[in-house]
Amino acid sequence: MQRENIMNSLFKTLSEDLFIYPDSLRFTGDLACFILKDSHEKYLGIMGPEKLVRQNDFKDQTSSSIPTEGISGHIIRFFRRNNDNLKKLLNIFPELYPSPLGKDTSFGFGDRLGLANAAHIKTIKKQNTVLPVLAQQSIRELSKTNKDFNIIVAQSIWNILQEGYRDKWGADADHIKEKKYFIKAIEAGMTMYTLDTSEHLDEEVLNMTNSEIRGNYQLDEEYIKNIFKEYLDKKIEINGNRFDFNEDTVMHLALVYGKALKYAEEIFHFLSDRLDVFDYEISFDETNTVTTPVAHYFIVNEMRKSNVGFTSLALRFPGTFEKGIDYIGNLEEFERSINIHGHICRRLGGYKLSLHSGSDKLSIYPSFAKNTQGIFHIKTSGTSWLEAVRLAASVNPVFFRELFQIAFDTFDENKKAYHIDLDKNILPNSIKNVADKDLPNILDDQDLRRVFHIAYGAILEREEERLMKLLFENEQLYYDYLIGNFKKHFDALKY
Ligand SMILES: [Zn+2]
Repeated sequence: MQRENIMNSLFKTLSEDLFIYPDSLRFTGDLACFILKDSHEKYLGIMGPEKLVRQNDFKDQTSSSIPTEGISGHIIRFFRRNNDNLKKLLNIFPELYPSPLGKDTSFGFGDRLGLANAAHIKTIKKQNTVLPVLAQQSIRELSKTNKDFNIIVAQSIWNILQEGYRDKWGADADHIKEKKYFIKAIEAGMTMYTLDTSEHLDEEVLNMTNSEIRGNYQLDEEYIKNIFKEYLDKKIEINGNRFDFNEDTVMHLALVYGKALKYAEEIFHFLSDRLDVFDYEISFDETNTVTTPVAHYFIVNEMRKSNVGFTSLALRFPGTFEKGIDYIGNLEEFERSINIHGHICRRLGGYKLSLHSGSDKLSIYPSFAKNTQGIFHIKTSGTSWLEAVRLAASVNPVFFRELFQIAFDTFDENKKAYHIDLDKNILPNSIKNVADKDLPNILDDQDLRRVFHIAYGAILEREEERLMKLLFENEQLYYDYLIGNFKKHFDALKY
């Protein structure tokens, strides 16, 4: 059956208060599957020869069978988008499952609300060199949105079906520290595992001299001896940068990173024992310790020695990376840093550099893309949430003002989960004087962006239903906002 005939017939048959997502049409034999919505809900639609439609075992039918106009003997049925039906779809279309992306250039689109991925897919379809990571949440985000890995994977797949995406995509269990969460991520079929090493880094060592270290630490002499043997007086030069592995540097590297690297190795084996293929990212970003070029070399070399396979590495770059706003810091310093890290990455090979908190870091994107030669991973999440808040500001000012009040009232509590350098006292404690028409623009204010960014848990706890309803009713506008926002992100990645 021709795709065009099917679409024509669907439009002819279904009443005008039903919207069919045109890209969602997929075929399995003579059956056509598609996604549609009415004014309350989205559904899975099945169309095909009557006997075949009746035979298939999708559950929770929501409409009586509708004889199809224009194609005799065909009927249409609607079903709920529940987990049983999703499982059935995955059996029919196994290409819907996420998969590891390896060293391919990739971009993480965290979607805390479960409906932004559709716009992310529209964005990614226009790129031909970037693969998307669509389900991407940290434990912190899952607890604040009251979700789990299973839910976010399912939501991404429904978005993929809706938009008719057919290429590879990844699912990232982001910033995981403990094995119990890796287990949950494995059970949900995540394909990318991001280890947060921050609790195993010893940052106090940085401010100590070697004799202070010797006085303060119970050193593992055997380990130190081996590390000294490996690195002391090693002469490494990468693109004119000479790495000086003197006793002081080596001792510090061993003590700052030693435990974290041991843990990264342990987790790698933990994952390898349970999974055949997966993407493994080791992250050092959520710390105060800027990763020096020497440390980058040391980290990778140590991982290689212990045969730890990893696909990406998130370093801590100079400057401040606050969520949902542009980079704060010296652009030239960032450029110098990413330049040498890019060279190290290419020299050592086999992995890509990952940029976290990538939302709206537009000023460093060109330099990041250029110096990684376009082979990178970037993670965003907050920026898609903020576009949802912007939508509320533009279509329901009264509701938006309520959301602002929640964000303001819960600011001190919200701040506990995020490192943001912002004092509540400098914020306007009211947006009373802002005209309704100007409300969406206050989402461009760096301070208010951060206030709303960290408030997503508090807002969802109180107003999730109303917010989701608003987004559902204004879905196309939300997509337009997201597409506009990500166009800026991807334009900035051109170099
Ligand atoms: Zn991070």
